[in-house]
Amino acid sequence: MEEKSKEEYKGVWVLGEVRDGEIHAVSYELLAWGRELADKLKVDLTVLVLGHHIRDKARELIYGGADRVMVVDHSALTYFTVDPFAAILTALIHEEKPEVFIASATTMGRTLMPVLAVKVTAGLTADCTELDIDMQERLLIQTRPAVGGNIMATIKTPDFKPQMATVRPKSKRPLEQDKNRQGEMIVKEFDDKFYPSRVKRLDFIREETIGVPIQDAETIVAFGKGLKDGKNLALINELATLLHGSVGASRSAIDAGWISYSHQVGLSGKTVSPRLYMACGISGAVQHLAGMSSAETIVAINSDPDAEIFSVADYGIVGDLFEILPVLIEKIKHEQKGA
Ligand SMILES: Cc1cc2nc3c(=O)[nH]c(=O)nc-3n(C[C@H](O)[C@H](O)[C@H](O)COP(=O)(O)OP(=O)(O)OC[C@H]3O[C@@H](n4cnc5c(N)ncnc54)[C@H](O)[C@@H]3O)c2cc1C
Repeated sequence: MEEKSKEEYKGVWVLGEVRDGEIHAVSYELLAWGRELADKLKVDLTVLVLGHHIRDKARELIYGGADRVMVVDHSALTYFTVDPFAAILTALIHEEKPEVFIASATTMGRTLMPVLAVKVTAGLTADCTELDIDMQERLLIQTRPAVGGNIMATIKTPDFKPQMATVRPKSKRPLEQDKNRQGEMIVKEFDDKFYPSRVKRLDFIREETIGVPIQDAETIVAFGKGLKDGKNLALINELATLLHGSVGASRSAIDAGWISYSHQVGLSGKTVSPRLYMACGISGAVQHLAGMSSAETIVAINSDPDAEIFSVADYGIVGDLFEILPVLIEKIKHEQKGA
């Protein structure tokens, strides 16, 4: 293959995500990141959408900040599998040469981007929480927690292009939709040799949980080791249901087997940014704070007045959660009856 000089690479790309035939919200978060980077670099922002029967929906990404929407539409792309997605994106990167390519650190992004980075011989910074541009060197600045979340590392990948990164979902709010924005729709066709997959999708089994997945929730009632026992989860579930929210948990609660991993908030779990985050019996370790400190309002209940969680809380209640939560639940029930 023909070698390209680094200078030939231009433009910012973001990877759109399709789930159940719809453009997923993370695509709009990525556009917000991408728009900021593209404006600094003074280049176009392109969003790539691989899916089936998705052209009309993909067009709306222009309203979310894209200059170009590049679509590959094929029945083999209805669901994500790594082989065809990686083959197509590798070909597109070689053809178009973007200088920056970012995806969300979702299951798809975390699976696809490492494969792609190897195929196009580029570096990859996983799980970034901040992205910026070093204007002097025209390089992507990629920031992510390191050393167990105790430091934030700033990473540049000057030697290879594109500069590739995954960013944590919810690390940026989408831009306001602007229906007057103009952009270009590009449809790319690939021949059959791009579509075989070693992975076959047999089924998708959704986990039963209270409320929406925590990364999408507006309200989260989270608990930690202070709950003492998984049997006491009914208290948290009741409060979450009353508030139409979802249940989150610290890693210690997950490790204790009280709830499944999909509820874990923090460095090695999910990053969330709900409007309300209630932390019940959570100490506020730095790795937990890394996943929830951008919540709009944080309420902490902890029996230890020196607990670190109070340093990020907007409202702190020092006391025993087994005394406080039943009172709070009764009060909310009373208010809701009266409403
Ligand atoms: C590499 C790495 C990654 C990690 N990733 C994560 C992560 O993603 N998410 C995460 O959460 N942690 C993570 N951790 C673990 C983290 O360091 C902490 O150990 C964990 O967050 C502590 O959980 P906790 O607050 O539930 O438990 P504890 O630290 O044991 O705190 C329990 C709290 O409950 C309070 N309490 C006790 N009884 C009551 C009561 N009756 N009423 C009210 N309060 C009470 C206590 O005062 C205490 O503050 C990670 C660690 C490492 C090294």
